[in-house]
Amino acid sequence: MTDIRMSEDVRTALGEDGAARAGAVTLNQAICLGCEKKIDPEEPVHVVLRIGGRVAHIRYAHAACHPSTIVEIPEPRTPAGPPAAPDQGAAMRVTAATVDHGGAVLPTLVAELEAPVFLVATDARDLVDVLASHVLAQGFSPVGRLRHAPAHAQRWTAAYTTPDTSGVAQLTIAEPDGTVFYTGTILPPDPWVAGVELYGWTVLYVGKIGLAGLPAGDQKARTRLLREAAADGRLVGARVPVRHLGRAEAGR
Ligand SMILES: [Zn+2]
Repeated sequence: MTDIRMSEDVRTALGEDGAARAGAVTLNQAICLGCEKKIDPEEPVHVVLRIGGRVAHIRYAHAACHPSTIVEIPEPRTPAGPPAAPDQGAAMRVTAATVDHGGAVLPTLVAELEAPVFLVATDARDLVDVLASHVLAQGFSPVGRLRHAPAHAQRWTAAYTTPDTSGVAQLTIAEPDGTVFYTGTILPPDPWVAGVELYGWTVLYVGKIGLAGLPAGDQKARTRLLREAAADGRLVGARVPVRHLGRAEAGR
């Protein structure tokens, strides 16, 4: 089991439950906050609590790379305009795929946080799935099964660039008030591109699904994990309009 160390102020900020949860994870996929290399589960790690506004992100670092401490970060709110730098707070991974919804194979994006997020409220022990409750307040719906595509979310927008020769496309997703929800890269399969061209929207799921460890082409396993997340109440979703921006500008 990984030797997870946290300083007294981090422990206090997390509260009893939060500290227990932050200390009981299996760090199979964790990336060090300091050097951005993978963390070997056998190495000692430090818990770093990054706080932006009311949301705190638990991150892990090699003991030698970063002290266990609380880091205040600016809130990840950026007005519409230039894309925000990746990882302003919530380190998020977005997977593009096509998913069968009751016989209709629909273009789908799945957004997952790379680290657990805790709400720092007056009672720090009150752990909430902040990301899900945030998007629910912005027009998303709980998803219990993948029979139908979820309803359209008003005024959300997504835009992507033509995939380059390695298949990498830039993707930006913005919330109704222009706040950048995600900006980064995706590896969209051809049917995803064809689907958004056809429909003009993509399904966007947000939740704790665990797609990170899957091989890119394992469609069956991906669908199974999404179904399980939906059945467990861990999935929220919406249909979001998508624009195609053409080719990415050089130097981006
Ligand atoms: Zn490191």
